[in-house]
Amino acid sequence: MYQKGRAWIELDLANLEHNVNYLKSLLPGECKLMPAVKANAYGHGAVLIAKALQKMGISDYCVASVEEGIELRNAGIAGNILILGYTHSRQIEQLVEHDLTQTVVDSDYAKQLSDYGKTVQVHIGIDTGMHRLGIDWEDMESIQKIWEYRNLKVAGVFSHLCAADGITQKEKDYTRKQIQRFETVVNQLKQQGKTGFVTHLQGSYGILNYPECRFDYARPGIALYGLFSSFAEYKEQEKEKQKKEIQNQGKLSPVLSLKTRVESVRTLEKGESAGYGMAYTAVSRRKIAVLSIGYADGIPREIAGKAYVLCRGKKVAVIGRICMDQMLVDVTDIPDIISGDEVVLIGRSEKEQIPAEAYAEWTDSISNEVVSRLGLRLERIACT
Ligand SMILES: *Cc1c(COP(=O)(O)O)cnc(C)c1O
Repeated sequence: MYQKGRAWIELDLANLEHNVNYLKSLLPGECKLMPAVKANAYGHGAVLIAKALQKMGISDYCVASVEEGIELRNAGIAGNILILGYTHSRQIEQLVEHDLTQTVVDSDYAKQLSDYGKTVQVHIGIDTGMHRLGIDWEDMESIQKIWEYRNLKVAGVFSHLCAADGITQKEKDYTRKQIQRFETVVNQLKQQGKTGFVTHLQGSYGILNYPECRFDYARPGIALYGLFSSFAEYKEQEKEKQKKEIQNQGKLSPVLSLKTRVESVRTLEKGESAGYGMAYTAVSRRKIAVLSIGYADGIPREIAGKAYVLCRGKKVAVIGRICMDQMLVDVTDIPDIISGDEVVLIGRSEKEQIPAEAYAEWTDSISNEVVSRLGLRLERIACT
């Protein structure tokens, strides 16, 4: 593969390190990071990111599946790898073989894991109010019982906040309640003499908005990559200047840039249309450029008619429908554009910049979804 040939991702590892240090600086000194590198490290490239983190002294990671854990092990990632999600009983052997830590997603699952007959290292998920995974925080009997399974080695206890990014009083009260519930569980376990397990609760927004929590680890994902889930919250928050997220603005640096090339430049006469469904029609003589990236690379079709890209430091509009492998932009205002030119979809070009959060706005989604869908066809290139 020719580097930077068709469409690619550039990773700024200095920014990654900056984000690691910034997030650490918010937390109590003894709290360590357990970065979420699931979904190919939110599209950034799991192996590249995990290796870079390992060099920065990180020794714990979380992923969503056994396969993601094995990919890291095969790439030489040592340390603890926690699987946050479900592992089928047929794959328990792989957990053991690759020394992966499994989440106990509920009480029945604990029995299945133990019945396999080999020692499995686990972290117990506690449901403090999200009602997705974990054992109910009030069901101390079931939580304690996990220690009685002969084949389960309890190395951690954790929970997940479901509204830590929220700015309403209701969301804040609920988050505080979740924190208290988790603390209650941890304290009860300690009172019962349970030891040798670590605790963790916060993801990115738990760190940004509730940094005072005192647990052994925090599990940042999106913020580690220098992104906010969306800027929509921001706008709300600008109205109330005291918000924490606003204080954090500018303190995270985006790691990922997404780039492609001009494949072909052509002229549209007035009244001619371009692309599928003749969705775009030129109202005057226009020059258009065809870019070698499309929805199979993760560019959402919904951005058509809303988005822009950067060519030679200038914003140019996305026109027509996004194709599987191409998209069209109006480059009438860039006289010297030629095929082979670099185009920025996410990131900086001279003085202009397009954040990943812009895609979240164009698609009415969150940046987490946008970046985690970036396709495998895109080459990931580390820059330091
Ligand atoms: C994905 C995930 C995280 C990371 O979330 P961010 O909001 O991206 O920081 C943390 N914990 C759990 C359980 C997750 O599933």
